[in-house]
Amino acid sequence: MKVYLNGKFVEQRQAVVSVFDHGLLYGDGVFEGIRAYNGLIFKLREHVDRLFESAHTIMLKMPMSKPALVDVVKQSVRVNKLRDAYIRLVVTRGVGDLGLDPRKCKAPTVFVIADKIELYPKKLYDQGLQLITVATQRNVPEALNPQIKSLNYLNNILGKIEAINAGYEEAIMLSPSGYVTECTGENIFIVKGRKLLTPPPYVGVLRGITRQTVMDLGMKLRLDVREDLLTRHDLFNADEVFLTGTAAEIVPVVKIDGRTIGGGAPGPVTKSLRQAFQQVTKTEGIRVG
Ligand code: PMP
Repeated sequence: MKVYLNGKFVEQRQAVVSVFDHGLLYGDGVFEGIRAYNGLIFKLREHVDRLFESAHTIMLKMPMSKPALVDVVKQSVRVNKLRDAYIRLVVTRGVGDLGLDPRKCKAPTVFVIADKIELYPKKLYDQGLQLITVATQRNVPEALNPQIKSLNYLNNILGKIEAINAGYEEAIMLSPSGYVTECTGENIFIVKGRKLLTPPPYVGVLRGITRQTVMDLGMKLRLDVREDLLTRHDLFNADEVFLTGTAAEIVPVVKIDGRTIGGGAPGPVTKSLRQAFQQVTKTEGIRVG
């Protein structure tokens, strides 16, 4: 595998960064995860825009333009002869000293990895996922805004560890007031009648790109799509629940904290949205070239 690192493509074993890189020492950096489907890179511009916004907020000056980065992403898929891929873009503060001071870091580290996509087991999509609410609350936007897709994912990892300890694969994280936020790496939706609801960003969720795609598809399917505060009660009594994310796409949820959701199997709206999603990934996107 060839990896783009600071201006050139190198072999995987040469794709190494310094132990003084602040991405490693402090999680001081930003990233994106992107998918390519059959030679089409899905929502590439949206991901690049979000990366630039994350970088701008943490005052990390991107060392290249958006078109140049788009080009590197396309090349990364091409040089590895991939058609279906999971692409990771990472920009760190770069090499500095052992203090926090970002001014000591003279140049950002940029790397892009295009790897084969490892699909989740089909069983997950056919049978649905069981979730548990965990005690670790989601970061509050006032302290660390989840819109910054930073390399500091400990909040999410702590949530994930709690789910794993309890024998589950994924966790629901709440806000300090007890509202539903998101899972550790996916947004959450509920279906209730013709309503399609998802928590608003101000409660402490990433504005997921898959989340937006699903909201758009929901509107096309004539659902009443809204951002709304959700409680665990709303989840337990929903007709359907599902998660969205670039890697996982749309995952049905059939049980939460021991309560069966709807009929206990993936529901019709989730299935229609999954179909519509697969259709857009086949037809939309930026060609690898
Ligand atoms: N929430 C969090 C915390 C995430 O890390 C991700 C994955 N990047 C998502 C939601 C889903 O976002 P997207 O659809 O843009 O992949």
